[in-house]
Amino acid sequence: MGTMDHGDRSTQVKAVSVARHHIFDLKYRLGDLRHSAIREAMVVRVRPSALLVLAPHSVTHHRGGREKAAEFWTGAVAESVAEAFGGSLISAIGSREEAETAASDDAFNELARHVVAATGARWVVDIHGLAARHQVDINIGTAGCRGDNNVTRSVQSLERTFDVSVDTPFDGSSGLSRSLADSTGVRGVQLELGTRLRRDAVTSADLNALVDGLALLVADGRSADSALAMPPRGW
Ligand SMILES: [Zn+2]
Repeated sequence: MGTMDHGDRSTQVKAVSVARHHIFDLKYRLGDLRHSAIREAMVVRVRPSALLVLAPHSVTHHRGGREKAAEFWTGAVAESVAEAFGGSLISAIGSREEAETAASDDAFNELARHVVAATGARWVVDIHGLAARHQVDINIGTAGCRGDNNVTRSVQSLERTFDVSVDTPFDGSSGLSRSLADSTGVRGVQLELGTRLRRDAVTSADLNALVDGLALLVADGRSADSALAMPPRGW
């Protein structure tokens, strides 16, 4: 795979290292993926950045009292993306207790609101795992940002590398990005990642194509290219 051309982006990002990505993931595998010794423990990095990346289901969690499986690799993907952007990060390293949905109020959501307020973040990317049966690489839940120019450009970029579906099967309307948009005014999307981006053999090219697509999401628009103004397939 060739070197990514990062020259035409208005947002500066660093290339993702696959070796570092694997090291990020190790901590989510502790305790048989069931949680750290501390319930609701989180990995938190707070940086003055336009981007906050979330991975609320990176380890086994509970919803309505029932155990839900860890969404493998989502913690590492969130960390690699956050690091590429110098962005802020919150991932779960201890089991969350969600009353009804991922957006049900708890310590994770409360912290996310504080981080948005403290950093001035303008975009939230909420990363989840999508079951292989859906047969897409990335499902973007626009959570009320459908039609946003940055979302459109980001989808177009991601479609060059991945099978992308917009708002199917998940539109993000009951997720964290939507609830943070409502409570803080930040814009956000929910990214449901298929197995291509959540496996031991994930490639550097794929991880960097994800980062490149997200760079267009968080871009400030000053270098927007009119050639990219057409809506993507399926919109
Ligand atoms: Zn999830």
